[in-house]
Amino acid sequence: MPEAPKISLKPTDYNLVEKNKKTLQFIEDVTANADEVQERVLGEILTSNANVEYLMKHGLKGHNDRETFKKVIPVSTYEDIQQEINRIANGDTSKILCSKPISEFLTSSGTSGGERKLMPTIEEELERRSLLYSLLMPVMSQFVPGLDKGKGMYFLFIKSEAKTPGGLLARPVLTSYYKSSHFKERPYDPYTNYTSPNETILCPDSYQSMYSQLLCGLYQNKEVLRVGAVFASGFIRAIRFLEKHWTLLCNDIRSGTMNPQITDPCVREAVMKILKPDPMLADFIEAECCKCSWQGIITRLWPNTKYVDVIVTGTMSQYIPILDHYSNNLPLVCTMYASSECYFGVNLNPLCKPSEVSYTLIPTMCYFEFLPVHRNNGVTNSPNVPKSLTEKEQQELVDLVDVKLGHEYELVVTTYSGLYRYRVGDVLRVAGFKNKAPQFNFICRKNVVLSIDSDKTDEVELQNAVKNAVNHLMPFDATISEYTSYADTKSIPGHYVLFWELSLNGSTPIPPSVFEDCCLTIEESLNSVYRQGRVSDKSIGPLEIKIVEPGTFDKLMDYAISLGASINQYKTPRCVKFAPIVELMNSRVVSSYFSPKCPKWVPGHKKWNNGD
Ligand code: AMP
Repeated sequence: MPEAPKISLKPTDYNLVEKNKKTLQFIEDVTANADEVQERVLGEILTSNANVEYLMKHGLKGHNDRETFKKVIPVSTYEDIQQEINRIANGDTSKILCSKPISEFLTSSGTSGGERKLMPTIEEELERRSLLYSLLMPVMSQFVPGLDKGKGMYFLFIKSEAKTPGGLLARPVLTSYYKSSHFKERPYDPYTNYTSPNETILCPDSYQSMYSQLLCGLYQNKEVLRVGAVFASGFIRAIRFLEKHWTLLCNDIRSGTMNPQITDPCVREAVMKILKPDPMLADFIEAECCKCSWQGIITRLWPNTKYVDVIVTGTMSQYIPILDHYSNNLPLVCTMYASSECYFGVNLNPLCKPSEVSYTLIPTMCYFEFLPVHRNNGVTNSPNVPKSLTEKEQQELVDLVDVKLGHEYELVVTTYSGLYRYRVGDVLRVAGFKNKAPQFNFICRKNVVLSIDSDKTDEVELQNAVKNAVNHLMPFDATISEYTSYADTKSIPGHYVLFWELSLNGSTPIPPSVFEDCCLTIEESLNSVYRQGRVSDKSIGPLEIKIVEPGTFDKLMDYAISLGASINQYKTPRCVKFAPIVELMNSRVVSSYFSPKCPKWVPGHKKWNNGD
């Protein structure tokens, strides 16, 4: 199997051209030999884990070939392995899923039973993640030269972590990565030269972290060649923060001192090593921020920026117009596709339009399989993830090199850390091939109806939340006859909007406080990633209920039918996205109410905090 390119240690022996060449050759090799690499990866995983309970239970008996593996091991969902996961979380260290020790749990933004899914991981996975990161800049440099001559201004954050009852850490994959030596003690590399000192990224207080990262980014504005965050929503949050706090930031730059609200000593020390008084720069920033339009603010404040590096595929595409506005249409670059389960692939044509982004899956990362997705009238079948696949469906899974151009598939992975034929929940479409390796458009996350940041709310969760809220209307002899929802990303942060049409039988008017209680009940009923976004990350604004005139949902149906929907099969969509429909709903709003406070949220799973 081709070796991961080695990184040199000192700036003096750093041969960028040579290193980039090696990295690109690595991509050539693994994609040209995709099938052989995949066979080898599966063999390695199965050999190393031959004695784990899960594989023995299913009767693999030490076999490590594809055919037996596919015959014997079922395709799985999180719910199928929940028992094994719980045992590991409760401290059972026997070889349940993986022969190597589970080093920690990565908490996915996908949820099960309202709580983040826990993905077991092993130490060596950090190397695989680092490898994927190391591919990004050599690829980018083919299209934008000279990126080694300046810095990247990236807004990167850690999130809170918890301990499972058995004592393992449970935290998001990026928090795990930023806190690892792979990131903190990364060897010299002109491509990981960021404006944010590590201490500002690792600061647990989100205000102090954002403030100090922006301060360092502004102070080094001329050196910045690229800007970004992981997801588009995070980058927009940074711009919004700048809108609110530029006066304080300018004061700090003018005086070369730091706002006393930044109390973290490590952050202060790291920033003070960089910051010197620069009144001219402060005046310049102030003049730009004072202008009434913030169009092109990125190119104005960071004039050498070549592109904005943020994920705008999937639900994040809703942020493209606002990013275009702030960046004066700089290229929006989506570099990679990854998850808590495993990092998957990279975009080999990073300057393409967001709508054309495709990710080449890197065959060394895990063993990939693909479950064909059948569409019916443009609607994906099976809105709820089925409990288990039929024998026939299990046989439909195809290997990486066997997917067909234009077809859609659900991604299924077998990882080094002990997931076997695991359904990630993403739907991908084959857009082309790099040598033998397919390149995929990201189509959607199955079932997700609403998303603002990393929250993913499905139809069932929304339905249950609405059901709980409706109890507040009972004393008024009122119910809701129809509802739909909408992710409003015009407000910053974005927020969920529910359109309700009421059926009123009682004569007592419903006071606003009752609708506000409904908003809060819905928020309390949503999953923990949503509530964390509201409480801790402040990446989601208060939920809003908009009461619409009677007959609005009939109008919605008329409109859908005029667009070609079948009258027999028409069902009220539980989420609306199409602008004319959102407009139609908004034009018939009679009153609106917001959640009066944040829902409850604590780090970690609810049951760990109850002590059971
Ligand atoms: P998490 O498990 O919380 O890390 O979330 C991983 C999920 O985020 C993936 O399964 C995708 O649904 C989504 N995701 C990750 N990278 C991308 C991308 N480049 N484009 C669209 N969605 C992505």
